[in-house]
Amino acid sequence: MSKYKPNKDRYDLMEYRRCGSSGILLPEISLGLWHNFGGVDNPNVYKEILHFAFDEGITHFDLANNYGPPPGSAEENFGKIIKKSFKSYRDQLIISTKAGYRMWDGPYGEWGSKKYLIASLDQSLKRMNLDYVDIFYSHRFDADTPLEETMEALDLIVRQGKALYAGVSNYGPQQTREAIQILQRKGTPFIIHQPRYNLLDREPENGLLEILENEKIGCIPYSPLAQGILSNKYLTGVPENSRAGNPHGFLQTSQITAEVLDKVKALQTMAENRGQTLAQMAVAWLLSKPVITTVLVGAKNKQQLKDILLSRENIVFSKGELKQIDKITK
Ligand code: NDP
Repeated sequence: MSKYKPNKDRYDLMEYRRCGSSGILLPEISLGLWHNFGGVDNPNVYKEILHFAFDEGITHFDLANNYGPPPGSAEENFGKIIKKSFKSYRDQLIISTKAGYRMWDGPYGEWGSKKYLIASLDQSLKRMNLDYVDIFYSHRFDADTPLEETMEALDLIVRQGKALYAGVSNYGPQQTREAIQILQRKGTPFIIHQPRYNLLDREPENGLLEILENEKIGCIPYSPLAQGILSNKYLTGVPENSRAGNPHGFLQTSQITAEVLDKVKALQTMAENRGQTLAQMAVAWLLSKPVITTVLVGAKNKQQLKDILLSRENIVFSKGELKQIDKITK
């Protein structure tokens, strides 16, 4: 098989936004490997997605220790593709991973202790065949571990050169404020927050976005399509090959209620009037906000990612449209 050669025009195809007040720029669209890149998935398909992403100027790939299934397999598979396709391009990539959710048995296999975070990142680096990741996240807030300890682990990881930058994910506004204070005191480059944020989940608007904006910390919202609900696929039932229809999918059919589908229908009509698919409008709405650095999407195949990349053709929303979105979704 011939060796992968990236599209030489890739950097003309993508816009990059500064991540908070840091030195790095992230592509407007980033790709996450939570689903579709695990041991149960087709290597030809995910390899094609990754090649296509990089060819389109997507330089940021997001992982976590537990992505799969089985847990760890997404990092392993990604490591193989780095070796085969991206080895010469490592310096052109921003690769992130996280630790917080259950990874191994016993009391040190999850949450936010220094013991767990340090051991987990060492395992992730081995699985991915990397010397360092660009961003390492505390994946969730741990109310039982002093925040000082979790932040100390992030600081140590950066000082050891195992990650270049630190981030947090799923931290609420107050937890984020405290993390900022601790990391500022330590001089740790805390540059990014990864919250769930989409048209159907507006929680970050209750304080978090304001903090990120004021403190100049980057924001990378995950599940921008609410795991695929923000598309037309569930309007007439649950397709077998969808995330909700897949036994390995995290999305439960119980989340796709009649109330949710009414909102989706109303949003779909709006998207049609804007000349977009609903999935494209969902991503465009996030990109229209200056606080958003990059939108972290998932994709089952190259076609879905291609479709999402077209979101960028119209990211302007009139005041009337924004009001209508609020009326439908809040
Ligand atoms: P999305 O909300 O973008 O959902 C992706 C899914 O939506 C796809 O797998 C596909 O599902 C469907 N889809 C994608 N493109 C289209 C399209 N063009 N038209 C119709 N349907 C489409 O994001 P994810 O939930 O996958 O999350 C993205 C990333 O965010 C993850 O990979 C991970 O990196 C990160 N994440 C972080 C979390 C955290 O706690 N920090 C938690 C969750 C995610 P289908 O199979 O149904 O077609």
